Amino acid sequence: MNVFDKPGRKVRLDDISADPPKGMTREKAEKRFATLGRELFELQDAMYGSKVNSVLVVLQGRDGAGKDGSIKHVVGCLNPRGVIVTSFGVPTLEERQHDFLWRVHRHAPRLGEFSIFNRSHYEDVLVVRVHDLAPGSVWKERFGHIRDFEELLAEHGTIVLKYFLHITKKEQEQRLLEREESPDTAWKLNPNDWKERDHWDDYTGAYEDAISKTAVKHAPWTIVPANAKWYRNLVIAESIVGALKGRRKGWEDTLDAMGKAGREGLEAYRAQVAAAREGKRKAR
Ligand code: ATP
Repeated sequence: MNVFDKPGRKVRLDDISADPPKGMTREKAEKRFATLGRELFELQDAMYGSKVNSVLVVLQGRDGAGKDGSIKHVVGCLNPRGVIVTSFGVPTLEERQHDFLWRVHRHAPRLGEFSIFNRSHYEDVLVVRVHDLAPGSVWKERFGHIRDFEELLAEHGTIVLKYFLHITKKEQEQRLLEREESPDTAWKLNPNDWKERDHWDDYTGAYEDAISKTAVKHAPWTIVPANAKWYRNLVIAESIVGALKGRRKGWEDTLDAMGKAGREGLEAYRAQVAAAREGKRKAR
């Protein structure tokens, strides 16, 4: 897996394959994904009850890279009770009148919860940079703000996992053309997706810079080969399960302690009720 978790390490997207590795087949990937899905469900259950940690999944990628599809598949493995998905589009007037993290921070997960961001605070160093929506002096400062923000979340127990869905320009073209063909996907058509293709290289540079400047141990970036949807789903699921499973024992210990405290509380309550009954009986 192409994981970046050290600041300053050079990222070169063109050197990373967007295709599944040799020997990986759809059949193998889907089988493994089903196993991971069950494991993810159990991990979520333990995390939800113990309320020690939360998870923030950040999904970034170019138009058509499969952010929606990834959400559908990964969230499909989870109990909806503990998941919130938030999509970040062009900021509203109110959002623009606040600092760039204001609209994001309020959607950070509560302890026990999963929060999935479809686009995120990273747009403020990507689209904003590529289209000159803010001066360089403003967006350059944001890398530091993002690092501090994610560190704050991590200190609060949030497991921050960031994914760049990596597709080739050719694959994007095919997907955008396919969208036109089916009424199931035509609703997604947006001329802007084609306009953005003209800025492909600028986005590549902006992504490489953003990933390199914000990759840290407690908030790593994974470059997901996303040309094949089935492999993309597998990589994301494998990565989330990998990041969570080391905590499972701790969550289960917390649940056991909570169960013990609950039992003791119940026993104390029953003893109190019995004593009160006995008192009344004697008084009669
Ligand atoms: P898909 O990728 O499936 O086509 P989408 O993510 O493009 O869907 P939309 O709501 O159509 O969904 O697009 C969101 C748009 O909002 C994107 O063009 C994105 O660049 C833009 N956007 C998000 N955040 C910001 C921001 N902070 N400043 C300016 N534009 C932003």
